[in-house]
Amino acid sequence: MKYVMSLDQGTTSSRCIIFDINGKIVSCAQKEFRQIYPKSGWVEHNPDEIYSSQVSVAAEALALMGATAQDIECIGITNQRETTILWDKNTGEPIYNAIVWQCRRTSDYIEKIKADNMSNVITDKTGLVPDPYFSATKIMWILDNVEGAREKAQRGDLLFGTVDCYLIWKLTGGKVHATDCTNASRTMLYNIYKNEWDSELLEYFNIPKAILPQVKLSSDDFGTTGVLGSDIKICGVAGDQQAALFGQCCFEKGEGKNTYGTGCFLLTNTGNKPIKSKNGLVTTIACGIDGEITYALEGSVFVAGAAIQWLRDELGLISKASETEEIALSVADTNGVTVVPAFTGLGAPYWNPYARGIITGISRGTGKAHIVRSTLESLAFQSYDLITAMENDIGEKISVLKVDGGASANTFLMQFQADVLNAVVKRPSCIETTAMGAAFLAGLYCGFWKSRQEIKSLINYSNEFIPQISGEQRSSLIQRWAEAISLIK
Ligand code: ADP
Repeated sequence: MKYVMSLDQGTTSSRCIIFDINGKIVSCAQKEFRQIYPKSGWVEHNPDEIYSSQVSVAAEALALMGATAQDIECIGITNQRETTILWDKNTGEPIYNAIVWQCRRTSDYIEKIKADNMSNVITDKTGLVPDPYFSATKIMWILDNVEGAREKAQRGDLLFGTVDCYLIWKLTGGKVHATDCTNASRTMLYNIYKNEWDSELLEYFNIPKAILPQVKLSSDDFGTTGVLGSDIKICGVAGDQQAALFGQCCFEKGEGKNTYGTGCFLLTNTGNKPIKSKNGLVTTIACGIDGEITYALEGSVFVAGAAIQWLRDELGLISKASETEEIALSVADTNGVTVVPAFTGLGAPYWNPYARGIITGISRGTGKAHIVRSTLESLAFQSYDLITAMENDIGEKISVLKVDGGASANTFLMQFQADVLNAVVKRPSCIETTAMGAAFLAGLYCGFWKSRQEIKSLINYSNEFIPQISGEQRSSLIQRWAEAISLIK
């Protein structure tokens, strides 16, 4: 019996999950690594730590199940997206730390893009709204600020990669410099309509094409690695949110998922045509498989599970996240209290970076449970706003929402989400959908699994949440939220 290994390189930890042919987890290992904050708003990782933690969890996951590399059919990789690494092609040494997606150091570059009237050009080509989040300005920053970087790049001695690409390069001993189309679509340099690096943008950003990786499909040949003892093929790669979309089997147009982690990420498959958002969502590549590219609309809530951490770490109202469920259920409602955790501004569809959080409706009777319940509800309300924007863009109602991520374990939250959305919320029994998506992409490429149909039969939705409140109750909840939002938007 053989297995598929998924390398899940996340923002705070590297994980390895090994799946059997039935899509069941047979082994898992995880290791956190350092977060580096050189200045306020700056976030970096050490690329060597990313790589070494990833290889060590892979070896550990094998050891835990008493297996060797020979038992692994293939490897799939999924990764924190947009994070940018530049390294020397000859020595393999990174010339700077990885600049993490969260890092805001390139805000000035974005102001310049706006002043140059380049925003629309960028959106029309890449599907993205210019922001420091994406890789392009992070590459520029390294080229502009690391001594000798630009000369090196011009000589063809420098390589750029998102984290998937860097891992592939290291794992293949420098033989393969490639990324997949989902990761490429997050760089702000990739033309998602033509499926190629965009020469006009490269010229505008002054980034030499020679540093960029080859772009492959998500289910494709990314070479072999021998670092675990014997050769294993790497044949599946996707950014974490896209991998989760695939892991949730959202293969058809109109199917979508919402991930409840630190933030929320909503992605809906829009089929083989990119749709331009009129509501502040971004257009991105969902997957490349079997010679075909599919697209997605994506929206994110900045503060979701992070608001639960705030209840724990700043307010001290809870000692662990999972307690929130019981506390929320100890009261019938929030007693008119609304928490809007806009700690870092409001995202889609409001887009106000200057907004800050508020709590409204506090009375003498307001207690801890009301605040906790309302904070949980805010994850659902923010997702509701995002889903409404998504529905307006795709022109149809989303009647089924597939969910995953750490906070989706909260059954109160999932029921409340179904209630405010008036949609069925489906939670899979295995919420490791990101790792699963990468495993599926790899396993399909090498024939471990035969078809997407076969994969669908492996996913079990053990929990379905059906809307239980009346239309009147729903309207009044949504109105309370809208009123609170109107105070800050
Ligand atoms: P990430 O991948 O962004 O680190 P995870 O998917 O691991 O996030 O989810 C962790 C987040 O979910 C944390 O912010 C935590 O506060 C929140 N969380 C975890 N369990 C629960 C729960 N039972 N109820 C509410 N929030 C939770």
